Amino acid sequence: MKLSRDLNDLTDKSNYAACVLLNEFKQCGINETGRTKEQQRENIAKGVSWTMDSYHLMNPKARAFDIYFKGDELYPKDINRWIPIINRMKECGMDCGYTLWGKDWMHFQEDETDYNQIKMENNLPTDWSKIMRDEVNILDYTVSHNAADPDAFEEKLRSMVELMIDRRVKKILEKLTK
Ligand SMILES: [Zn+2]
Repeated sequence: MKLSRDLNDLTDKSNYAACVLLNEFKQCGINETGRTKEQQRENIAKGVSWTMDSYHLMNPKARAFDIYFKGDELYPKDINRWIPIINRMKECGMDCGYTLWGKDWMHFQEDETDYNQIKMENNLPTDWSKIMRDEVNILDYTVSHNAADPDAFEEKLRSMVELMIDRRVKKILEKLTK
């Protein structure tokens, strides 16, 4: 079955990220957007997908898209070619397949962590979610933003990171045991 590359298959959020990708990374293209239930069943039968809960499924819109590189290497092995793209997609609220299950670099899906809720519950600064995405930055951020009690602040940020990791792991386990 032919893969759909129609950006209209995507939710507004995914559509926006896909447009950013195509505009800013001319070396890349979109390989697949939305999938029908029939296509997904076929993929599972072929062993290239393992869940009927795929973000590619359109109900009514898909929340994921797959990309490729133009040229000889569709999916480059050199991680450095991916990093700028992954970082930019994160800014657009998309998770990379690699960070979710350690493979499938080409897949981007909507990050559903409710950052606003967590921010409000914990009285965190507006730009905290960006910081959360890169734990390495936490110490720098702590020093520059909350010199009054850096230890307590760092502790808080670290516990938030753990909470996010827990949620992510739980989600993956749920998918695998389905
Ligand atoms: Zn995908």
